[in-house]
Amino acid sequence: MGKDNFLIKAADPDNVAVVPHAGGLQAGVLLDNGITLLEFVPMGHKVALTDLAEGDRIIRYGQTIGYALHPIYAGAWVNELNMAMPAPPDLDAIRIEPQIASKPKPLTGYTFQGYRNPDGSVGAKNVLGITTSVQCVAGLTQYVTRKIKEELLPQYPNVDDVVALNHTYGCGVAIEAPAAMIPIRTIRNIAQNPNFGGEVMVIGLGCEKLRPEKLVPSAPEDREGPSPILYMQDPAFQGFQEMVDGAMELAVHHLEKLNRRRRETCTAADLVVGMQCGGSDAFSGLTANPVAGFAADLIVRAGGSVLFSEVTEVRDAVHLLTPRTTDVAVGQALIDEMKWYDQYLAWGQADRSANTTPGNKKGGLSNIVEKALGSIAKSGTSPISDVLGPGEKIRKKGLIFAATPASDFVCGTLQVAAGMNVHVFMTGRGTPYGLSMVPVIKVGSNSTLSSRWFDLIDFDAGQVATGEKTIEALGWALFHLILAVASGEKTVAADKLGLHNDLVLFNPGPLT
Ligand code: CA
Repeated sequence: MGKDNFLIKAADPDNVAVVPHAGGLQAGVLLDNGITLLEFVPMGHKVALTDLAEGDRIIRYGQTIGYALHPIYAGAWVNELNMAMPAPPDLDAIRIEPQIASKPKPLTGYTFQGYRNPDGSVGAKNVLGITTSVQCVAGLTQYVTRKIKEELLPQYPNVDDVVALNHTYGCGVAIEAPAAMIPIRTIRNIAQNPNFGGEVMVIGLGCEKLRPEKLVPSAPEDREGPSPILYMQDPAFQGFQEMVDGAMELAVHHLEKLNRRRRETCTAADLVVGMQCGGSDAFSGLTANPVAGFAADLIVRAGGSVLFSEVTEVRDAVHLLTPRTTDVAVGQALIDEMKWYDQYLAWGQADRSANTTPGNKKGGLSNIVEKALGSIAKSGTSPISDVLGPGEKIRKKGLIFAATPASDFVCGTLQVAAGMNVHVFMTGRGTPYGLSMVPVIKVGSNSTLSSRWFDLIDFDAGQVATGEKTIEALGWALFHLILAVASGEKTVAADKLGLHNDLVLFNPGPLT
């Protein structure tokens, strides 16, 4: 019996365990637990630990992830072809009973160097964001952004970057529809992300439905300064060049203010870390997400904030989260977000099973139930102190559920709007995901990916699977990396390479 032929079990009651070996394990291999593998099982995939009869529960993370479609023998490969997916928890039957035993033990003494804003929030970067009220002006915004980078930015050494916050909204939409609230508040709150330093600059057209004034805080800090809004249709402009000149002049005003900012010592309580995963595999829930969850607990203990999101990846595990809400109102808000999303999916004649991708399945995640159980590990164990609707801005400290679709760029966009200053992104299959305004720390769930993508992945959580490192040790290491990135001491791979995704709004409302 070779000690190398081990499987990874997520919880004691499990009757399946995962092959951690790169390249998988061949049929006939004698496993450390005495079971002989009946067939080839790829890396990340599940093996039955006992004989299962038709209809038997398949248990992972101590929860039912499926039912055997036909007899499955110990040593067989368990995947979406031989298991049926369980029904989701009945939202109306869940009794919301918060069971917070004790307050998390405070953690003090951890700091980073951040840019403190007038509203108390703290930026990890110092970026000029140019937002827009409508897609019509995207060309001007891009033109001006390029020109600022070339001609102005070198004169303002304390400003990291200038970013065009282009989007596809603003006109041709049912602006009064209830669901329009989501994209509108998202656009407004993105411009107020702490990494933009409270300097909101808007380029509008003039005739659009989304009024640019709606994107500016109601009480701007400097009323005596120039208007933060430039309208292309302003009759004062004779031709395109004058519009460009006007935007450059406005940019100088904001760059001068941003350039005066300096990093100062802030405590870990000023972190707002957005957690999400994408391109997940069966290791995500064993390595990367629990490591992120451990770091999340440290941030919450230090008084900071952690956002977790992705409704379809929480839906099947929501009954495990409601007992962790701080009160019944927060628990009800969590259920309400799940209900809203059920209806949204039903309207599109889909359900949560539409979430899993071919890559997820190839990586060993058989269905959304298994994916969800692994996904919520990134929320750690802390109490859930608040629930935000899509595009809402953070209003409390602690662990917060920010409702978003699971789609990587949509979730990231909504977490930018919620106010994250650092993003932590777990991946098993691999994605080059990055954002221009918020540093994205990419965590690899398996060492095969982390070493093959050595210049794209920032942190390898795969060593948990090989037993080289513990979740606790890597959780602390990730926490320290988050602080270093928030300080600007470490640059994430996506920023080194300039790999940045577009902002993608969540617009559940109608177009006209
Ligand atoms: Ca995602």
